[in-house]
Amino acid sequence: MRTQWTKADRRLTNGLLAYLTHLRLPPKLARVMKQEQAPLRDVLGRPLRNLRLSVTDRCNLRCQYCMPEADYVWLPQNDLLSFEEIDRLTRIFTGLGVDKVRLTGGEPLLRKDLPVLVRLLAGNPDIKDLALTTNGVRLAELAAPLQEAGLHRITVSLDTLRSERFRTLNQRDELPNVLAGIRAASRAGFQGLKIDAVVIRGLNEDELSDLIELGKESKAEVRFIEYMDVGGATRWSMEQVFARTEILSALERRYGSIRLLVEESSAPAERHALPDGTVFGIIASTTRPFCRSCDRSRLTADGHWYLCLYAQRGIDLRRPLREGASDVEIEHILRSSWKERDDRGAEERFRSAPRTALIEAEGLRRDPHLEMHTRGG
Ligand code: SAM
Ligand code: SF4
Ligand code: SF4
Repeated sequence: MRTQWTKADRRLTNGLLAYLTHLRLPPKLARVMKQEQAPLRDVLGRPLRNLRLSVTDRCNLRCQYCMPEADYVWLPQNDLLSFEEIDRLTRIFTGLGVDKVRLTGGEPLLRKDLPVLVRLLAGNPDIKDLALTTNGVRLAELAAPLQEAGLHRITVSLDTLRSERFRTLNQRDELPNVLAGIRAASRAGFQGLKIDAVVIRGLNEDELSDLIELGKESKAEVRFIEYMDVGGATRWSMEQVFARTEILSALERRYGSIRLLVEESSAPAERHALPDGTVFGIIASTTRPFCRSCDRSRLTADGHWYLCLYAQRGIDLRRPLREGASDVEIEHILRSSWKERDDRGAEERFRSAPRTALIEAEGLRRDPHLEMHTRGG
C-alpha cells in the first residue's frame, strides 16, 4: 500500500478545502494560485503531465505482438468507469499538472458512444492535447463525430500494407477498413495525423519505405516502434527486435542521408528527416529506453492507475471513487503515489539478461491488468 490516509489527514484537508471554498477566490486569482503551485514531481524529478486513458480492454484485432492468444479474461463490465467517472478523475489529474490526455485501449473505438466522452474531456480547459490511438478499423465511421466532439489528434496503428500479411500479423481481414479510416481522419480535418508501426524482424521490416510513402500520401507522420517485451508480447524474443539503428540504415539505403531533428521534448519518438524533408519518428523503447524523461502514466478502463508500462501493480482509484472519496482525498492519493514514483521499467529490462518475454501467458490469465491491451499502449 503506497498511501496511509488517516482520519486526521482527511479532517485537515477537508477543513482546508472548506476554508478555501468559503473564501470564494475570484476565478482569475484562483487560476494564478494554481499556476503558482510547484509542479508535482516524482523521485527522479519527472513531472506528471501525460495521462493515457484506456477506455476498454476489448479489441477487434488480435495483433501477434499484443493479443496473440485465442481467449482472454476480460474486465467485468460493472467495473468499467463511466464517462462521468473518467471525466472526474481526469479533472483531478489535470489539477495536478496533466495537460496531455490520450484515449487508448484495447481498441478505444469499440467503447460505445466514445464521442460523448471526448466532448466531456474537450470541455476541460486544462487539457492542451487530447489525442487518440486507434487501430483504425472503425475510424471511417467515427472520424467526423470525433472531430466534432473536440478531439485534437489521431494516431493510427498500422504495421503492414499487404493484405495477406495483415491477416497474419493482426489476425483479421481489416486492412481496407484501416486505410479508409486514415483517409477519413484526413478528410475530417485532423492535423498532426500519425501512423505507428511496430517493426518485427522477419515479419514487416521490408515495408519501412512503403509505410513512409503511405505517410507522404496521407500527410501523416510515420513512427516506427521497436517490438517490446511487455504484457501480451508472450512470444517476444530479442532476435525479433528490428532495432532503431537497423531502421535508420534501411531507410538510409533507400532514401539517402537522414538528419536527426534535435528537439526539447518528453515525447517517446526521436524524430528524423529524409533528404526531401519528410519527417518520421522512431520509438526505440527496447534498445534505447527513455525512462529518464517519462512523464506518462496509465489509467485502465476499470480505474487502476499504473505509473509505468512495466509496473506489476497499479493503484486502485475506482474503489475510493465509488466509496465516496472527495476530490481532495483522491488528489492526495495521486500526489503521494507520484512523489514516490521511481519506475524505470524499460531501462531495467534493458540491463537484464538473458531477456525473454516479461510475463508468461499463464501470469496474464491470472491478472489481466498486466496485459498491454488492458493498461493501454
Ligand atoms: N488498439 C489501439 C491501437 O492498436 O492503436 C490502441 C491500443 S494499442 C495497445 C497501442 C499501441 O501499442 C499500438 O500502436 C500498438 O502497436 C502498440 N503495441 C502493442 N503491443 C506492442 C509491443 N509488444 N511492442 C511495441 N508496441 C506495441
Ligand atoms: Fe488490439 Fe491495439 Fe493490441 Fe492490436 S495493438 S491487438 S489493435 S489493442
Ligand atoms: Fe516510462 Fe516506464 Fe515506459 Fe520507462 S518503461 S518510459 S518509466 S512507462
